[in-house]
Amino acid sequence: MRNNIVHIGAGELTYEIRAIVDIADKLKDLGIKTNMENIGDPVAKGEKIPLWMKEIVADLAMKDCAYGYCPTRGVLETRQFLADLTNKRGKTQITADDILFFNGLGDAIQKVYGFLRREARVIGPSPTYSTHSSGEAAHAGQKPVSYRLDPGNNWYPDLDDLRLSIKYNPAICGILIINPDNPTGAVYPERVLREMIAIAKEYDLFIICDEIYHNIVYNGESTKPISDLIGDVPTIAMKGISKEAPWPGARCGWIEVYNADKDPMFQQYVASILNSKMVEVCSTTLPQKAIPALLSHPEYPKYLEERKRRYERASNIAYQLLKDVPGIKVNRTNGAFYMAVAFEKGRLTHEQSLPIENPEVKQLVDGLVNLPGCSLDKRFVYYLLASTGICVVPLSSFCTPEQGFRIT
Ligand code: PLP
Repeated sequence: MRNNIVHIGAGELTYEIRAIVDIADKLKDLGIKTNMENIGDPVAKGEKIPLWMKEIVADLAMKDCAYGYCPTRGVLETRQFLADLTNKRGKTQITADDILFFNGLGDAIQKVYGFLRREARVIGPSPTYSTHSSGEAAHAGQKPVSYRLDPGNNWYPDLDDLRLSIKYNPAICGILIINPDNPTGAVYPERVLREMIAIAKEYDLFIICDEIYHNIVYNGESTKPISDLIGDVPTIAMKGISKEAPWPGARCGWIEVYNADKDPMFQQYVASILNSKMVEVCSTTLPQKAIPALLSHPEYPKYLEERKRRYERASNIAYQLLKDVPGIKVNRTNGAFYMAVAFEKGRLTHEQSLPIENPEVKQLVDGLVNLPGCSLDKRFVYYLLASTGICVVPLSSFCTPEQGFRIT
């Protein structure tokens, strides 16, 4: 090549949640029976889609209107339906034009960071869902900037760390919050959210709040949508149907923009996201059209409740099983469907207890763990996979110095 054609931030794009699947597939070919606990896809994990939901989608598929482009922002009736849901809460008001649809929230995340100036940084949690850290770091061409989530305090944000990082890094222009959180399953109390909003206000920052798990909260916990609390702070809330409906294959998510008119720079930034969407044309029409009928169906609340009870049970069993295991630290999870298991310092003596009998499997795993830069927790994850077939994701791949793993 005459020039280096690779984007400066390309090296930051990592997604171990799926990269591990290639390894699991190779092990499957060698006869290992795998149990995939790496990815948050309720449908892949056996969630049965109710008939009423299938009927809504099938009905739409029979209608010509589901086959055309929709407006760039998304289907108007659906955006109006979603704006009404927020407006009915009475804390803040938005219009259908403040909502913009994407082909999944993963797509939205890439675009939202992609249109920031390279020097403008968004500080995100550590650990964090790696699409955020990868997208943000790739846009900047530098390592992510992070605030610590504290495993000793339910994985809640370390607010002193957040404040100090912002104070000493003038490049930071926004704060990312993920609530309920992936990979920790933490659900933030209103007090924590209010403090984060106060920090954003004090330093004149915008907020991005990923709320894709907002309605998947259990163990008697509750949380507030960010739109109830932000006052006049410019904010982008991120939402979707992948986890809740659950319909991850729809590739359908959206952003809600609050208080754009409060800051001309933020307004310009949001306009550039919309312009990029125009260049792309629009997102897939059919799932958007299904949203009002799905979310307002009389069976929907019951269906979601049943699923939450199952997640609660599974999560509490996992917690009971893991909480007294020496050398690891876990917290009870109260939302989403992930648990972050952290290794306590210096501890990793698993290899003897995870024997690999098949010589071909052993050769494959030895090759992987001997690759330069293979972290301690990656070693553990590969041994666990090869020895038991259980596929989890190394915690260090969620943008954290912590070692451990995330399990669904
Ligand atoms: N945000 C968070 C916190 C997630 O966990 C996920 C998926 O796991 C996404 C966004 C992406 O969702 P989508 O399927 O809408 O792309």
